[in-house]
Amino acid sequence: MAYKPANKIQDLQYFGEFGGVNPSVSDSSTYTFLSAKTMFDTFEGNADGCYLYSRHSSPSNLYLGEALAAMEGTETANVAASGMGAITPVILQICQAGDHIVSSRTIYGGTYAFLKNFSPKLGIDTSFVDITNLEKVEAAITSTTKILYCESVSNPLLEVADISGLAAIAKKHKIKLVVDNTFSPLSISPAKLGADIVIHSLTKFINGSSDTVGGVVCGSQEFINALRNVNDGASMLLGSTMDSFRAASILKNLRTLHIRMKQHSTNAHYLAEKFQQDGLKTVYPGLKSHPSHELFKKMMNEEYGFGGMLTIDVGSIDKANALMEMMQEKNLGYLAVSLGFYKTLFSAPGTSTSSEIPEDEQLEMGLSDGLIRFSIGLDNDIERTYRTMRQCMTSLHILKSKKALAY
Ligand code: PLP
Repeated sequence: MAYKPANKIQDLQYFGEFGGVNPSVSDSSTYTFLSAKTMFDTFEGNADGCYLYSRHSSPSNLYLGEALAAMEGTETANVAASGMGAITPVILQICQAGDHIVSSRTIYGGTYAFLKNFSPKLGIDTSFVDITNLEKVEAAITSTTKILYCESVSNPLLEVADISGLAAIAKKHKIKLVVDNTFSPLSISPAKLGADIVIHSLTKFINGSSDTVGGVVCGSQEFINALRNVNDGASMLLGSTMDSFRAASILKNLRTLHIRMKQHSTNAHYLAEKFQQDGLKTVYPGLKSHPSHELFKKMMNEEYGFGGMLTIDVGSIDKANALMEMMQEKNLGYLAVSLGFYKTLFSAPGTSTSSEIPEDEQLEMGLSDGLIRFSIGLDNDIERTYRTMRQCMTSLHILKSKKALAY
């Protein structure tokens, strides 16, 4: 299948039932058949275009899935009720008892908890590795490994995966490269770089309005059919199905993703440069100081920038908490987990989104106490935002006040 550029969602053409410019929302959990034979064929997976039951598929979910597949350049996609509702069926579809996974050690805390604490109960074990070290990744692969798992840009440390390099390793060992692209929609297209399966938590940038959770698995028709299979498909049987109304509203929000991502990236890049100049320990893939800056540049769809996520380290959890509370008070954003909202969101991952990771392992991967993760919003005047953030930092003695006055 020809790869569709990331911003070509606009090329899709779906009309509503009465010619509406939005597809009609399918407000049904079940569907009638004109003949009993067609119903039987649909159960067998042999009646293209027929709907059976909305846990299996629904027109609204298929519209959203097709738009996301067009964005990621995969044959098709299956939407789910949450990001975790997309990730867990993929793992359980590919692996069975006795199988093994090699995963990046810096991944979203919920995914980490699933691989570390839950899937071993089913006989599926995971080795966690430094994903930026391809030799270590390859060395961790065993004869029972089925999946190489990573995030394009990791939560929360913003490590960047060399997707082409990982894809070559996965191909060599005949295992699946599964990439969670939640932090870098449009900026990075993992399937173009060789990933077999691309996952998103739609909860974040893609929906962008922090009003729902959602997820998607983008992949080959064969794999998505397997996930949906009525007899042994993990998505069908585990049942984390998205509601049609949510699918319709996420599809509408998806259409402005390209504009939002550019603004998130521009704002985050501006702040990251300022914070770094101020002497703060700042991590942002767009900074030359980021260890994988060149790699990101090589992989990226340039027009969307380096993304909306950055971290700073303010030295201690007390300082981090005080700063976040003050920034919220000054209406610079919200002290909240999650990302991709129009407002800036900030949290200290060590005590929130990554708290599932034991303290010693947090230390080993460089997840320090004073780390604040920012999802930078769509602020129209980012210079004003910076000035006010800087005032907060100086009043809390995170930055020296002299420089603040000079600004
Ligand atoms: N993947 C990443 C990178 C995430 O940050 C998250 C949630 O924070 C998830 C997956 C899980 O998504 P959801 O909360 O929609 O289940």
